[in-house]
This record gives sequence, C-alpha cells and structure tokens, in this order.
Amino acid sequence: MADKVSDHKHCPVCGKSMNAENRFCSEECEKGLAGQRKRQQRTMWIFMGILVLFMLLIYILPGQTGCLGTAPKP
Ligand SMILES: [Zn+2]
Repeated sequence: MADKVSDHKHCPVCGKSMNAENRFCSEECEKGLAGQRKRQQRTMWIFMGILVLFMLLIYILPGQTGCLGTAPKP
C-alpha cells in the first residue's frame, strides 16, 4: 500500500517531488544547500567564539575582584 510512495522523494531545498535516486531536484538546489551549510557553519563558529569569550569573561571577572578584595590594605 505504502510502497508506491517510497519511489519518489521531495527535494530538501525547494520541496518539489523528484526521483528517489536523486538527492536534489536540480543542480541549483544542491548548490543552494551547500551555501546554506557553509553559512550555518560560519554562524556556529562565531557563536562558539562568543561563548568562549563569555566564559573567559566570567572566569576572569570574579578573579579580579577577588584579588582586589584579598589585597592587603595599608
Ligand atoms: Zn529543489
């Protein structure tokens, strides 16, 4: 019953129905997904950088105030 549905697929980019052997309906869609992935990866790296920076800031800030608090007063 459901085996007639399995011989066709939908393009992951534009959603058009296509042959199940193909990964994308056209070369344009394949290129589009590759560009999207690259952009996603770059966004992820920027996010990771911000996260590391933020963690460093959290790690450094209390240390500085702690140093000031324990510094001997004249
Ligand atoms: Zn497509």
